[in-house]
Amino acid sequence: MRPPKGTYDVLPLDLSKQGYSSDAIEHVRSAFIQAAQRAGFQEITTPVLESTDLFIKSTGISSDVVGKEMYTFLDRSERSMTLRPEGTPGALRALSLAKGHEKQLYQKVYYIGPMFRYERPQQGRHRQFIQFGMELLGPKHSAMDLDLIAVASQAFKTLGLEVELQINTIGTLEERKKFRQALTDALLPVKEQLSEESQKRLVTNPLRILDSKNEQDQDLLKNVPCLEDFLGEDSLNYFEQVKTSLTACGMRFTHNPRLVRGLDYYSDTVFEWTCDTIGAQSALGGGGRYSGLYKTLGGDQSEGVGFACGIERVLLALEAKNGAYKELAGRDLLCIPVTSTVTSSLLKLIFAIRSKGYTVDLHPIPSPKKLTKALQSADSRNFRFAMIVGEKELAAGQVVIKNLKTKEQVPIALSEEKILEIINKA
Ligand code: AMP
Repeated sequence: MRPPKGTYDVLPLDLSKQGYSSDAIEHVRSAFIQAAQRAGFQEITTPVLESTDLFIKSTGISSDVVGKEMYTFLDRSERSMTLRPEGTPGALRALSLAKGHEKQLYQKVYYIGPMFRYERPQQGRHRQFIQFGMELLGPKHSAMDLDLIAVASQAFKTLGLEVELQINTIGTLEERKKFRQALTDALLPVKEQLSEESQKRLVTNPLRILDSKNEQDQDLLKNVPCLEDFLGEDSLNYFEQVKTSLTACGMRFTHNPRLVRGLDYYSDTVFEWTCDTIGAQSALGGGGRYSGLYKTLGGDQSEGVGFACGIERVLLALEAKNGAYKELAGRDLLCIPVTSTVTSSLLKLIFAIRSKGYTVDLHPIPSPKKLTKALQSADSRNFRFAMIVGEKELAAGQVVIKNLKTKEQVPIALSEEKILEIINKA
């Protein structure tokens, strides 16, 4: 039986065909978590299953996510439930319920977990995918936008990815309403020439037409009013502050006036990181500022800025850059005893090396006939060293340790110090 369409199993490296192995996921996950924790973000975990209402109230009915992509069903008590399509609503609901705003002047949280969207699966687009996200709540200040953007940039840098940061401002709700009307007025006469998707969006969410990838749509957009012309002084000044502080911190970005992002609650700053090596789904992550959302979900007036990033797309970008994921993780040593007696005698040594923080796997099947297979397994499981120990070696206290990358073998004394010396030298 295959997993449901658009979903995948996460398997150990040597069994994983797709590239989303548990090792590779952990590599990306830890880069984001470490960057967030170093900036003072703390983890928040909320249910995967939420009341449908939560997303209607927050993510918004006119977003594609709520309008056509949610996994929604009635539970056995006839309540409408939804598998969360994104993390922000749950996180903000939980913070407001815990009265975070009464206890602290600001909140900084991160989350990581599965999200669900009924989309047409393709490279980098799944129906169950993993998002890492952050939310920063407090009084509105451009330093918050900067702080959050810096954490994501740091994670991409740690992973060695070359990404482009695009930013824009979409102003306030009032300003967008006026622009929305002007945009609709300008596009209605040429409606028939728009792509099918954009024709639908003209009714549901005209702003999204701006980031249509269709070339003819883009041609037609050359003659429409510009969002920036509808923004007031406050919105323009705020955006200037964000841009100035990004520049002051040496963070490179492009101002993309067509960037609007898909969720209803954004206002002012929006941003996105793209990577041109991973095909059509080139947005690795993105986010933006929101103003009324926390209050809608039970909190106070706090404003916020959030970010979310798809782990799978980051993995695709890493694969495009580095090839296989094999280099990402390295386990230290596979110990292959050739008889059960050797196994028992080696356990103390193995436990001692493990307790120093090294990974030592004990090959559980002592079978001299299958040594080649055991060594191949060490290689495919990404061990750096293998050590075959027979009765004679044990008696003599001498053993051969093999570097699986260089294929070099050296005889050493069977002792913790000597083994660690070899492992640490490589
Ligand atoms: P969004 O929540 O739509 O702003 O998306 C933020 C990030 O989540 C995107 O840039 C992607 O990396 C990732 N993402 C969104 N939808 C999917 C999906 N269906 N499959 C894989 N990743 C996704």
